[in-house]
Parts: sequence; structure tokens; C-alpha cells
Amino acid sequence: MNLPQHYREILLGLGEDPQREGLRDTPERAAKAMQYLCHGYAQSLEEIVNGALFASTSDEVVIVRDIELYSLCEHHLLPFIGKAHVAYIPTGKVLGLSKVARIVDMYARRLQIQESLTRQIAEAIQSVTNAAGVAVVIEAQHMCMMMRGVEKQNSQMLTSVMLGAFRESSNTRQEFLQLIGRSK
Ligand SMILES: [Zn+2]
Repeated sequence: MNLPQHYREILLGLGEDPQREGLRDTPERAAKAMQYLCHGYAQSLEEIVNGALFASTSDEVVIVRDIELYSLCEHHLLPFIGKAHVAYIPTGKVLGLSKVARIVDMYARRLQIQESLTRQIAEAIQSVTNAAGVAVVIEAQHMCMMMRGVEKQNSQMLTSVMLGAFRESSNTRQEFLQLIGRSK
């Protein structure tokens, strides 16, 4: 069974009439939308980075802040929406700036839980740049909490993964958290 047919079944399961005017094209549209929201499965890290690694002698922290993030939780297939902040300490190679955002997007456009998403981004940046340290913080609001269940409208979920120097040195970690406005 293809994806539009499954959506037709969902409509029936909800007690709807998939033949009524407003819903007639909904299964096709919903299937297309879902495929778009999950297009990260069709991408790979190699394809995204595509050689955009540049030699650099800098060993200063590179931070890309406030990267918009749209993902779907794998437990409810509902969106979670927020921002990612990514930092790394280069050891000879820096990544093209837009590539960091595209790496975030590739993993976000899959069914996810926020903790794994955070880790996958950090490990991808680490493996591509061979950085001395990588830090990723994600703050997001989950529709499965806001629209159903506990209905907590203002709760943000905060996750972080620190690798290398960000894990070992509390100064380096504090500097990063300060720069993204998250230090205590
Ligand atoms: Zn959920």
C-alpha cells in the first residue's frame, strides 16, 4: 500500500469521509507533506558536505547560533520546533558556514527524539571536521506536549551534547554557553 492510501485509511479510521470535497486530495497532499518532512532519510553526510572543508590555522571556537529546526517526534509523529546552537574547535579544517545548518536539517528531517538528534549532529560535525571539541545545544517545543497529554504550553526541552574540549574543560563549555545566552 502506498502512502496516500494509508492516509485514506487514517481518514476512515477517524470517522471521516475521504470522498467529501475538502478531503478528496488530502491523502496525496498529506503524503507529499510527510515525505518532505522526512526528506533527511534520502540525504547523506558526504553529499551534504560535498568537499566544503577549508584549510584554516585558526583554533578559535566557531559558533553557529540560532539555527532554525523543524523535526517530527518519533513517538507521536508530531512536530517539535526550535533552535540548534553548534560550536566546534577546528584542528586545521573548517566547514562552510551553510553546511552546519544543512547538517542540522538533514538529521531534523527524519523521525527523531531530541536527545538522539542532538547527538547525531555533534557526532557528524566531529567526524567531518575532526574538531578538538564539538558542542550542540537544542532548545525546542514539542507539539506532543503542547497539543495533547500534559498540555504544557511554555515548556522548552533543552538537550546538549559536549564532545572533546567542551566536555573536558568547564571554561570552554562556559564560554560556549555564555555566547548562546544559556550560562547560569
Ligand atoms: Zn512526541
